[in-house]
Amino acid sequence: MNYFPAFLDLHGRRCLIVGGGEVAARKARLLHSAGAELTVVAPRLAAPMQQLLRNAALCWQAREFDAADVAGHWLVVSATGVPEVERRVAAAAAQARVFCNSVDNLPQCSFITPAIVDRSPLVVAVSSGGAAPVLARQVRARIEALLPAGLGRLARVAAEWRDRVRHKIAAPAERRMFWERVFESAQARDAADAAEMIPALLDASLPSTGEAWLVGAGPGDPDLLTLAALRCLQQADVIVHDRLVSPEILALARRDAEMIAVGKKPGCMANSQEQINALLVELVCSGKRVCRLKGGDPFIFGRGGEEAQALMEAGLAYRVVPGITAASGCAAAAGIPLTHRDAAQSVAFVTAHGKDSIDTLDWPSLARDRQTLAVYMGVRRFPELVGKLVAHGRPANTPIAIVERGTTSAQRIVRGTLGQLSLLAEAHRIEAPAMLFIGEVARLGDPATDEAMTPGAAPGRQRLALRVTVPATGRGA
Ligand code: SAH
Repeated sequence: MNYFPAFLDLHGRRCLIVGGGEVAARKARLLHSAGAELTVVAPRLAAPMQQLLRNAALCWQAREFDAADVAGHWLVVSATGVPEVERRVAAAAAQARVFCNSVDNLPQCSFITPAIVDRSPLVVAVSSGGAAPVLARQVRARIEALLPAGLGRLARVAAEWRDRVRHKIAAPAERRMFWERVFESAQARDAADAAEMIPALLDASLPSTGEAWLVGAGPGDPDLLTLAALRCLQQADVIVHDRLVSPEILALARRDAEMIAVGKKPGCMANSQEQINALLVELVCSGKRVCRLKGGDPFIFGRGGEEAQALMEAGLAYRVVPGITAASGCAAAAGIPLTHRDAAQSVAFVTAHGKDSIDTLDWPSLARDRQTLAVYMGVRRFPELVGKLVAHGRPANTPIAIVERGTTSAQRIVRGTLGQLSLLAEAHRIEAPAMLFIGEVARLGDPATDEAMTPGAAPGRQRLALRVTVPATGRGA
Protein backbone atom coordinates (compact mmCIF):
# COMPACT_ATOMS: atom_id res chain seq x y z
CA MET A 1 0.00 0.00 0.00
CA ASN A 2 1.35 3.41 -0.93
CA TYR A 3 -0.91 5.25 1.49
CA PHE A 4 -2.27 4.36 4.89
CA PRO A 5 -6.05 4.80 4.92
CA ALA A 6 -7.48 6.44 8.05
CA PHE A 7 -10.44 8.50 9.25
CA LEU A 8 -9.49 11.59 11.22
CA ASP A 9 -11.42 13.09 14.12
CA LEU A 10 -11.13 16.82 13.42
CA HIS A 11 -13.79 18.04 15.83
CA GLY A 12 -12.55 21.23 17.47
CA ARG A 13 -9.11 20.78 15.91
CA ARG A 14 -7.45 23.66 14.12
CA CYS A 15 -6.77 23.20 10.42
CA LEU A 16 -5.18 25.64 8.00
CA ILE A 17 -6.39 26.44 4.50
CA VAL A 18 -4.04 28.35 2.23
CA GLY A 19 -5.86 30.00 -0.66
CA GLY A 20 -9.21 31.75 -1.06
CA GLY A 21 -10.43 30.44 -4.41
CA GLU A 22 -13.18 28.04 -5.37
CA VAL A 23 -11.15 24.88 -4.79
CA ALA A 24 -10.00 26.11 -1.40
CA ALA A 25 -13.63 26.84 -0.51
CA ARG A 26 -14.66 23.31 -1.46
CA LYS A 27 -12.01 21.82 0.80
CA ALA A 28 -12.89 24.26 3.56
CA ARG A 29 -16.54 23.25 3.40
CA LEU A 30 -15.63 19.58 3.73
CA LEU A 31 -13.29 20.17 6.68
CA HIS A 32 -15.90 22.39 8.30
CA SER A 33 -18.53 19.65 7.96
CA ALA A 34 -16.14 17.31 9.79
CA GLY A 35 -16.03 19.78 12.69
CA ALA A 36 -12.62 21.35 12.08
CA GLU A 37 -11.80 24.87 13.29
CA LEU A 38 -10.57 26.64 10.20
CA THR A 39 -8.06 29.39 9.56
CA VAL A 40 -7.87 30.66 5.99
CA VAL A 41 -4.77 32.49 4.82
CA ALA A 42 -5.30 34.34 1.51
CA PRO A 43 -4.93 37.94 0.35
CA ARG A 44 -8.39 37.81 -1.25
CA LEU A 45 -11.46 35.57 -1.00
CA ALA A 46 -13.57 34.55 -3.99
CA ALA A 47 -17.35 34.50 -3.62
CA PRO A 48 -17.76 30.89 -2.34
CA MET A 49 -15.25 31.41 0.46
CA GLN A 50 -16.82 34.76 1.34
CA GLN A 51 -20.12 32.98 1.71
CA LEU A 52 -18.55 30.33 3.92
CA LEU A 53 -17.03 33.10 6.03
CA ARG A 54 -20.49 34.59 6.55
CA ASN A 55 -22.13 31.24 7.47
CA ALA A 56 -19.43 29.49 9.43
CA ALA A 57 -17.08 30.47 12.19
CA LEU A 58 -13.77 30.56 10.40
CA CYS A 59 -10.87 32.89 10.83
CA TRP A 60 -9.52 34.76 7.79
CA GLN A 61 -5.99 36.18 7.69
CA ALA A 62 -6.03 38.57 4.71
CA ARG A 63 -2.42 38.28 3.60
CA GLU A 64 0.17 36.07 1.86
CA PHE A 65 1.17 32.75 3.42
CA ASP A 66 4.00 32.74 5.92
CA ALA A 67 5.86 29.59 7.03
CA ALA A 68 5.02 30.40 10.65
CA ASP A 69 1.27 29.99 9.86
CA VAL A 70 1.56 26.22 9.97
CA ALA A 71 2.34 26.07 13.70
CA GLY A 72 -0.48 24.88 15.94
CA HIS A 73 -2.50 23.20 13.17
CA TRP A 74 -3.30 19.51 12.77
CA LEU A 75 -3.63 19.64 9.01
CA VAL A 76 -2.84 21.98 6.18
CA VAL A 77 -4.66 22.13 2.87
CA SER A 78 -3.11 24.30 0.23
CA ALA A 79 -5.06 25.29 -2.88
CA THR A 80 -3.48 28.44 -4.25
CA GLY A 81 -2.67 27.03 -7.68
CA VAL A 82 0.69 28.87 -7.50
CA PRO A 83 3.51 26.28 -7.64
CA GLU A 84 5.94 28.43 -5.69
CA VAL A 85 3.45 28.98 -2.85
CA GLU A 86 2.45 25.32 -2.84
CA ARG A 87 6.08 24.35 -2.47
CA ARG A 88 6.60 26.75 0.44
CA VAL A 89 3.47 25.50 2.24
CA ALA A 90 4.52 21.86 1.81
CA ALA A 91 8.04 22.60 3.05
CA ALA A 92 6.81 24.52 6.09
CA ALA A 93 4.34 21.73 6.91
CA ALA A 94 7.02 19.06 6.60
CA GLN A 95 9.31 21.09 8.83
CA ALA A 96 6.59 21.33 11.48
CA ARG A 97 5.54 17.65 11.07
CA VAL A 98 2.03 18.67 10.05
CA PHE A 99 0.29 16.68 7.32
CA CYS A 100 -0.24 18.70 4.18
CA ASN A 101 -2.43 18.28 1.11
CA SER A 102 -1.57 20.39 -1.89
CA VAL A 103 -4.63 20.06 -4.12
CA ASP A 104 -3.97 18.31 -7.45
CA ASN A 105 -0.25 18.36 -6.73
CA LEU A 106 0.67 14.86 -5.60
CA PRO A 107 4.44 15.35 -5.12
CA GLN A 108 3.82 18.04 -2.50
CA CYS A 109 1.26 15.99 -0.55
CA SER A 110 1.94 14.14 2.68
CA PHE A 111 -1.72 13.11 2.72
CA ILE A 112 -4.29 12.75 -0.02
CA THR A 113 -8.07 12.83 0.16
CA PRO A 114 -10.22 9.99 -1.14
CA ALA A 115 -13.39 10.08 -3.22
CA ILE A 116 -16.19 9.49 -0.72
CA VAL A 117 -19.66 8.04 -0.51
CA ASP A 118 -21.27 9.71 2.46
CA ARG A 119 -23.98 7.85 4.34
CA SER A 120 -22.85 9.22 7.66
CA PRO A 121 -22.02 7.71 10.02
CA LEU A 122 -21.23 5.17 7.30
CA VAL A 123 -18.60 6.62 4.96
CA VAL A 124 -16.88 4.79 2.11
CA ALA A 125 -13.57 6.26 1.00
CA VAL A 126 -11.99 5.25 -2.31
CA SER A 127 -8.50 6.08 -3.45
CA SER A 128 -6.19 4.98 -6.24
CA GLY A 129 -3.27 6.54 -4.40
CA GLY A 130 -3.10 9.23 -7.04
CA ALA A 131 -2.50 6.67 -9.79
CA ALA A 132 -5.91 6.95 -11.47
CA PRO A 133 -8.26 9.46 -9.80
CA VAL A 134 -10.86 9.01 -12.55
CA LEU A 135 -10.98 5.27 -11.82
CA ALA A 136 -11.42 6.00 -8.12
CA ARG A 137 -14.33 8.32 -8.96
CA GLN A 138 -15.93 5.67 -11.16
CA VAL A 139 -15.67 3.12 -8.36
CA ARG A 140 -17.16 5.70 -6.02
CA ALA A 141 -20.08 6.20 -8.42
CA ARG A 142 -20.72 2.46 -8.52
CA ILE A 143 -20.72 2.20 -4.75
CA GLU A 144 -22.93 5.26 -4.59
CA ALA A 145 -25.51 3.44 -6.73
CA LEU A 146 -25.18 0.31 -4.61
CA LEU A 147 -25.83 1.79 -1.18
CA PRO A 148 -29.41 2.76 -0.35
CA ALA A 149 -29.92 6.33 0.77
CA GLY A 150 -31.39 5.22 4.12
CA LEU A 151 -28.26 3.37 5.14
CA GLY A 152 -26.96 6.24 7.25
CA ARG A 153 -30.21 6.31 9.16
CA LEU A 154 -29.95 2.57 9.76
CA ALA A 155 -26.43 2.93 11.11
CA ARG A 156 -27.61 5.65 13.49
CA VAL A 157 -30.43 3.46 14.77
CA ALA A 158 -27.95 0.62 15.26
CA ALA A 159 -25.74 2.95 17.30
CA GLU A 160 -28.67 3.74 19.60
CA TRP A 161 -29.24 0.03 20.21
CA ARG A 162 -25.66 -1.09 20.58
CA ASP A 163 -25.48 -1.05 24.38
CA ARG A 164 -28.79 -2.81 24.84
CA VAL A 165 -27.80 -5.52 22.35
CA ARG A 166 -24.44 -5.98 24.04
CA HIS A 167 -26.22 -6.36 27.35
CA LYS A 168 -28.66 -8.94 26.02
CA ILE A 169 -26.24 -10.99 23.88
CA ALA A 170 -22.98 -11.52 25.72
CA ALA A 171 -21.06 -13.73 23.28
CA PRO A 172 -19.32 -11.66 20.57
CA ALA A 173 -19.85 -14.27 17.87
CA GLU A 174 -23.60 -14.40 18.53
CA ARG A 175 -23.76 -10.66 18.69
CA ARG A 176 -22.13 -10.38 15.29
CA MET A 177 -24.63 -12.86 13.90
CA PHE A 178 -27.43 -10.77 15.34
CA TRP A 179 -26.22 -7.60 13.64
CA GLU A 180 -25.66 -9.41 10.38
CA ARG A 181 -29.27 -10.49 10.44
CA VAL A 182 -30.47 -6.99 11.21
CA PHE A 183 -28.51 -5.41 8.40
CA GLU A 184 -29.25 -8.11 5.86
CA SER A 185 -33.00 -7.91 6.32
CA ALA A 186 -33.01 -4.15 6.78
CA GLN A 187 -31.27 -3.67 3.47
CA ALA A 188 -34.01 -5.56 1.74
CA ARG A 189 -36.67 -3.31 3.26
CA ASP A 190 -36.73 0.35 3.96
CA ALA A 191 -34.05 1.29 6.42
CA ALA A 192 -36.72 3.06 8.45
CA ASP A 193 -38.11 -0.34 9.51
CA ALA A 194 -34.88 -1.06 11.32
CA ALA A 195 -35.94 0.43 14.62
CA GLU A 196 -38.98 -1.82 14.87
CA MET A 197 -37.12 -4.87 13.69
CA ILE A 198 -34.31 -4.74 16.21
CA PRO A 199 -36.40 -5.45 19.33
CA ALA A 200 -38.29 -8.24 17.57
CA LEU A 201 -35.09 -9.90 16.46
CA LEU A 202 -33.58 -9.42 19.88
CA ASP A 203 -36.46 -11.29 21.44
CA ALA A 204 -36.26 -14.21 19.05
CA SER A 205 -34.02 -16.97 20.34
CA LEU A 206 -30.63 -17.14 18.68
CA PRO A 207 -29.06 -20.39 17.59
CA SER A 208 -26.15 -21.32 19.81
CA THR A 209 -24.39 -23.71 17.43
CA GLY A 210 -22.67 -22.62 14.28
CA GLU A 211 -23.11 -23.90 10.79
CA ALA A 212 -21.01 -25.07 7.88
CA TRP A 213 -20.98 -23.92 4.30
CA LEU A 214 -19.44 -26.23 1.74
CA VAL A 215 -18.28 -23.69 -0.77
CA GLY A 216 -16.84 -24.06 -4.27
CA ALA A 217 -14.02 -21.59 -4.93
CA GLY A 218 -13.86 -22.21 -8.68
CA PRO A 219 -10.73 -23.17 -10.60
CA GLY A 220 -8.47 -20.32 -9.46
CA ASP A 221 -9.37 -16.96 -10.96
CA PRO A 222 -11.15 -14.94 -8.22
CA ASP A 223 -13.48 -13.51 -10.89
CA LEU A 224 -14.98 -16.98 -11.17
CA LEU A 225 -16.23 -17.01 -7.58
CA THR A 226 -20.00 -16.84 -7.15
CA LEU A 227 -21.52 -13.98 -5.19
CA ALA A 228 -22.77 -16.54 -2.66
CA ALA A 229 -19.22 -17.88 -2.20
CA LEU A 230 -17.93 -14.34 -1.67
CA ARG A 231 -20.60 -13.71 0.96
CA CYS A 232 -19.66 -16.92 2.80
CA LEU A 233 -15.99 -15.93 2.71
CA GLN A 234 -16.81 -12.59 4.20
CA GLN A 235 -19.05 -13.93 6.94
CA ALA A 236 -17.29 -17.07 8.12
CA ASP A 237 -15.43 -17.19 11.44
CA VAL A 238 -13.22 -20.01 10.19
CA ILE A 239 -12.12 -20.92 6.68
CA VAL A 240 -11.04 -24.50 6.16
CA HIS A 241 -9.49 -24.55 2.71
CA ASP A 242 -7.78 -26.88 0.28
CA ARG A 243 -4.27 -26.35 -0.98
CA LEU A 244 -5.63 -25.66 -4.48
CA VAL A 245 -7.49 -22.52 -3.38
CA SER A 246 -5.51 -19.52 -4.61
CA PRO A 247 -4.11 -16.82 -2.28
CA GLU A 248 -6.07 -14.16 -4.22
CA ILE A 249 -9.29 -15.88 -3.21
CA LEU A 250 -8.25 -16.36 0.41
CA ALA A 251 -7.47 -12.64 0.52
CA LEU A 252 -11.20 -11.98 0.08
CA ALA A 253 -12.03 -13.57 3.44
CA ARG A 254 -13.04 -11.62 6.51
CA ARG A 255 -9.87 -10.12 7.91
CA ASP A 256 -10.10 -11.72 11.32
CA ALA A 257 -11.25 -15.12 10.08
CA GLU A 258 -9.20 -18.08 11.23
CA MET A 259 -7.55 -19.88 8.29
CA ILE A 260 -6.99 -23.63 8.38
CA ALA A 261 -5.27 -25.32 5.42
CA VAL A 262 -6.07 -29.00 5.06
CA GLY A 263 -4.38 -29.77 1.76
CA LYS A 264 -4.17 -33.25 0.42
CA LYS A 265 -1.23 -33.21 -1.95
CA PRO A 266 -0.92 -35.96 -4.52
CA GLY A 267 1.19 -38.67 -2.99
CA CYS A 268 1.23 -37.24 0.55
CA MET A 269 -1.44 -37.52 3.18
CA ALA A 270 -1.35 -34.28 5.14
CA ASN A 271 -4.84 -34.66 6.52
CA SER A 272 -7.01 -37.71 6.12
CA GLN A 273 -10.61 -37.17 5.04
CA GLU A 274 -11.73 -38.49 8.43
CA GLN A 275 -9.63 -35.85 10.18
CA ILE A 276 -11.13 -33.13 8.02
CA ASN A 277 -14.67 -34.37 8.70
CA ALA A 278 -13.98 -34.44 12.45
CA LEU A 279 -12.50 -30.95 12.34
CA LEU A 280 -15.59 -29.55 10.61
CA VAL A 281 -17.92 -31.17 13.14
CA GLU A 282 -15.86 -29.89 16.04
CA LEU A 283 -15.73 -26.31 14.72
CA VAL A 284 -19.47 -26.16 14.05
CA CYS A 285 -20.24 -27.62 17.48
CA SER A 286 -18.19 -24.88 19.08
CA GLY A 287 -20.56 -22.32 17.55
CA LYS A 288 -18.39 -21.26 14.63
CA ARG A 289 -19.62 -20.41 11.16
CA VAL A 290 -17.34 -22.49 9.03
CA CYS A 291 -16.61 -21.95 5.37
CA ARG A 292 -15.26 -25.20 3.94
CA LEU A 293 -13.65 -23.81 0.82
CA LYS A 294 -12.82 -26.29 -1.92
CA GLY A 295 -11.34 -25.83 -5.37
CA GLY A 296 -13.86 -25.95 -8.23
CA ASP A 297 -17.19 -27.38 -7.16
CA PRO A 298 -17.41 -29.07 -3.75
CA PHE A 299 -19.41 -31.98 -5.12
CA ILE A 300 -17.25 -32.83 -8.13
CA PHE A 301 -14.32 -35.03 -7.13
CA GLY A 302 -14.10 -32.91 -4.03
CA ARG A 303 -15.32 -35.34 -1.39
CA GLY A 304 -17.82 -32.68 -0.39
CA GLY A 305 -20.42 -35.40 -0.25
CA GLU A 306 -18.57 -37.14 2.56
CA GLU A 307 -18.21 -33.93 4.51
CA ALA A 308 -21.91 -33.16 4.10
CA GLN A 309 -22.72 -36.66 5.36
CA ALA A 310 -20.47 -36.28 8.40
CA LEU A 311 -22.17 -33.00 9.29
CA MET A 312 -25.61 -34.49 8.74
CA GLU A 313 -24.83 -37.50 10.92
CA ALA A 314 -23.70 -35.15 13.69
CA GLY A 315 -27.06 -33.37 13.38
CA LEU A 316 -25.45 -30.12 12.25
CA ALA A 317 -26.67 -27.51 9.81
CA TYR A 318 -24.86 -27.11 6.51
CA ARG A 319 -25.39 -25.44 3.16
CA VAL A 320 -23.76 -26.11 -0.20
CA VAL A 321 -22.58 -23.30 -2.47
CA PRO A 322 -21.70 -24.67 -5.91
CA GLY A 323 -18.64 -23.48 -7.77
CA ILE A 324 -17.32 -23.50 -11.31
CA THR A 325 -15.68 -26.86 -11.71
CA ALA A 326 -12.19 -27.19 -13.27
CA ALA A 327 -13.67 -28.79 -16.41
CA SER A 328 -15.83 -25.74 -17.15
CA GLY A 329 -13.25 -23.18 -16.10
CA CYS A 330 -10.32 -24.73 -17.96
CA ALA A 331 -12.37 -25.52 -21.08
CA ALA A 332 -13.55 -21.92 -21.24
CA ALA A 333 -10.01 -20.66 -20.75
CA ALA A 334 -8.83 -22.78 -23.69
CA GLY A 335 -11.82 -21.87 -25.86
CA ILE A 336 -13.04 -25.46 -25.87
CA PRO A 337 -16.81 -25.99 -25.88
CA LEU A 338 -17.41 -29.13 -23.82
CA THR A 339 -20.38 -30.03 -26.00
CA HIS A 340 -20.92 -29.07 -29.62
CA ARG A 341 -23.76 -29.93 -31.95
CA ASP A 342 -21.36 -31.25 -34.59
CA ALA A 343 -18.67 -32.79 -32.43
CA ALA A 344 -19.87 -33.87 -28.98
CA GLN A 345 -23.34 -34.77 -27.77
CA SER A 346 -22.25 -35.48 -24.23
CA VAL A 347 -19.46 -34.80 -21.82
CA ALA A 348 -18.18 -37.12 -19.10
CA PHE A 349 -16.33 -35.92 -16.01
CA VAL A 350 -13.86 -38.65 -15.18
CA THR A 351 -11.12 -39.12 -12.64
CA ALA A 352 -8.13 -41.28 -13.36
CA HIS A 353 -6.75 -41.02 -9.85
CA GLY A 354 -5.34 -44.21 -8.42
CA LYS A 355 -5.15 -47.72 -9.83
CA ASP A 356 -8.64 -48.64 -8.71
CA SER A 357 -10.43 -45.94 -10.60
CA ILE A 358 -8.56 -46.71 -13.84
CA ASP A 359 -9.67 -50.33 -13.62
CA THR A 360 -13.26 -49.66 -12.63
CA LEU A 361 -14.08 -47.05 -15.29
CA ASP A 362 -16.51 -48.06 -18.02
CA TRP A 363 -14.00 -47.95 -20.89
CA PRO A 364 -16.23 -49.19 -23.72
CA SER A 365 -18.59 -46.32 -23.02
CA LEU A 366 -15.80 -43.74 -22.52
CA ALA A 367 -14.16 -44.77 -25.80
CA ARG A 368 -17.26 -43.99 -27.85
CA ASP A 369 -16.94 -41.08 -30.22
CA ARG A 370 -19.01 -37.87 -30.31
CA GLN A 371 -18.41 -37.29 -26.64
CA THR A 372 -15.93 -35.21 -24.66
CA LEU A 373 -13.96 -36.62 -21.76
CA ALA A 374 -12.88 -34.15 -19.11
CA VAL A 375 -10.29 -35.95 -17.02
CA TYR A 376 -9.46 -34.80 -13.48
CA MET A 377 -6.38 -35.84 -11.50
CA GLY A 378 -5.02 -37.75 -14.47
CA VAL A 379 -1.46 -36.46 -14.87
CA ARG A 380 0.21 -39.58 -13.49
CA ARG A 381 -2.00 -41.94 -15.39
CA PHE A 382 -1.75 -40.67 -18.95
CA PRO A 383 -0.08 -43.79 -20.43
CA GLU A 384 -2.68 -46.18 -18.96
CA LEU A 385 -5.47 -43.84 -19.97
CA VAL A 386 -4.36 -43.72 -23.59
CA GLY A 387 -3.82 -47.48 -23.65
CA LYS A 388 -7.36 -48.21 -22.39
CA LEU A 389 -9.08 -45.73 -24.68
CA VAL A 390 -7.24 -46.83 -27.82
CA ALA A 391 -7.73 -50.50 -26.94
CA HIS A 392 -11.47 -49.84 -26.68
CA GLY A 393 -11.60 -48.14 -30.06
CA ARG A 394 -10.99 -44.40 -29.59
CA PRO A 395 -8.72 -43.41 -32.52
CA ALA A 396 -5.16 -42.38 -31.65
CA ASN A 397 -5.63 -39.20 -33.70
CA THR A 398 -8.48 -37.94 -31.48
CA PRO A 399 -7.65 -34.35 -30.51
CA ILE A 400 -6.65 -33.64 -26.92
CA ALA A 401 -5.85 -30.54 -24.88
CA ILE A 402 -4.10 -30.29 -21.54
CA VAL A 403 -4.80 -27.22 -19.42
CA GLU A 404 -2.41 -26.83 -16.51
CA ARG A 405 -3.30 -24.37 -13.73
CA GLY A 406 -6.23 -23.18 -15.81
CA THR A 407 -7.65 -19.67 -15.23
CA THR A 408 -4.62 -18.64 -13.17
CA SER A 409 -1.76 -16.42 -14.28
CA ALA A 410 0.41 -19.55 -14.59
CA GLN A 411 -1.96 -21.24 -17.05
CA ARG A 412 -0.46 -23.40 -19.81
CA ILE A 413 -2.29 -25.09 -22.65
CA VAL A 414 -0.90 -27.94 -24.73
CA ARG A 415 -2.79 -29.49 -27.66
CA GLY A 416 -2.16 -32.57 -29.72
CA THR A 417 -3.64 -36.02 -30.27
CA LEU A 418 -4.43 -38.90 -27.98
CA GLY A 419 -1.50 -40.88 -29.39
CA GLN A 420 0.90 -38.05 -28.52
CA LEU A 421 -0.48 -37.45 -25.02
CA SER A 422 2.19 -39.09 -22.88
CA LEU A 423 5.05 -37.64 -24.90
CA LEU A 424 3.53 -34.17 -24.88
CA ALA A 425 2.95 -34.26 -21.14
CA GLU A 426 6.49 -35.37 -20.53
CA ALA A 427 8.07 -32.92 -22.94
CA HIS A 428 6.16 -30.01 -21.44
CA ARG A 429 6.61 -31.33 -17.90
CA ILE A 430 2.92 -31.08 -17.17
CA GLU A 431 2.13 -31.14 -13.46
CA ALA A 432 -0.98 -31.21 -11.33
CA PRO A 433 -3.36 -29.51 -11.24
CA ALA A 434 -4.14 -30.10 -14.88
CA MET A 435 -7.27 -30.98 -16.82
CA LEU A 436 -7.17 -33.23 -19.84
CA PHE A 437 -9.82 -32.86 -22.55
CA ILE A 438 -10.27 -35.63 -25.07
CA GLY A 439 -12.52 -35.37 -28.11
CA GLU A 440 -13.13 -33.46 -31.33
CA VAL A 441 -13.90 -30.27 -29.40
CA ALA A 442 -10.29 -30.12 -28.18
CA ARG A 443 -9.37 -29.05 -31.71
CA LEU A 444 -11.35 -25.84 -31.23
CA GLY A 445 -10.16 -22.72 -29.47
CA ASP A 446 -7.26 -20.46 -30.25
CA PRO A 447 -4.01 -22.37 -30.51
CA ALA A 448 -2.03 -19.12 -30.95
CA THR A 449 -1.22 -19.02 -27.26
CA ASP A 450 -0.64 -22.74 -26.77
CA GLU A 451 2.64 -24.46 -26.19
CA ALA A 452 4.51 -26.06 -29.11
CA MET A 453 2.52 -28.95 -30.51
CA THR A 454 5.33 -31.23 -31.55
CA PRO A 455 6.71 -33.23 -28.65
CA GLY A 456 10.22 -33.59 -30.02
CA ALA A 457 10.76 -29.85 -30.35
CA ALA A 458 9.58 -28.93 -26.89
CA PRO A 459 12.07 -26.77 -25.01
CA GLY A 460 12.78 -26.82 -21.29
CA ARG A 461 10.49 -25.32 -18.72
CA GLN A 462 12.35 -22.05 -18.30
CA ARG A 463 12.16 -21.17 -21.94
CA LEU A 464 8.52 -22.18 -22.00
CA ALA A 465 7.73 -19.83 -19.17
CA LEU A 466 9.18 -16.97 -21.18
CA ARG A 467 7.39 -17.87 -24.36
CA VAL A 468 3.93 -18.53 -23.05
CA THR A 469 1.94 -15.63 -21.74
CA VAL A 470 -1.68 -16.35 -21.10
CA PRO A 471 -4.25 -13.95 -19.62
CA ALA A 472 -6.07 -15.19 -16.54
CA THR A 473 -9.55 -15.21 -18.07
CA GLY A 474 -11.43 -15.14 -21.28
CA ARG A 475 -11.89 -17.27 -24.33
CA GLY A 476 -8.85 -18.18 -26.29
CA ALA A 477 -6.75 -17.73 -23.15
N1 SAH B 1 -13.64 -30.13 -6.95
C1 SAH B 1 -12.69 -29.77 -7.97
C2 SAH B 1 -11.84 -30.93 -8.40
C3 SAH B 1 -10.95 -31.47 -7.33
S1 SAH B 1 -9.96 -32.76 -7.88
C4 SAH B 1 -13.43 -29.16 -9.16
O1 SAH B 1 -14.65 -29.21 -9.21
O2 SAH B 1 -12.77 -28.61 -10.02
C5 SAH B 1 -8.46 -31.91 -8.28
C6 SAH B 1 -8.25 -31.91 -9.78
O3 SAH B 1 -9.02 -30.91 -10.40
C7 SAH B 1 -6.85 -31.59 -10.19
O4 SAH B 1 -6.00 -32.72 -10.10
C8 SAH B 1 -7.05 -31.15 -11.62
O5 SAH B 1 -7.24 -32.26 -12.47
C9 SAH B 1 -8.35 -30.41 -11.52
N2 SAH B 1 -8.13 -28.98 -11.33
C10 SAH B 1 -8.54 -28.22 -10.31
N3 SAH B 1 -8.20 -26.93 -10.50
C11 SAH B 1 -7.56 -26.88 -11.69
C12 SAH B 1 -6.97 -25.84 -12.47
N4 SAH B 1 -6.97 -24.57 -12.05
N5 SAH B 1 -6.41 -26.14 -13.65
C13 SAH B 1 -6.41 -27.40 -14.09
N6 SAH B 1 -6.95 -28.44 -13.42
C14 SAH B 1 -7.52 -28.17 -12.22
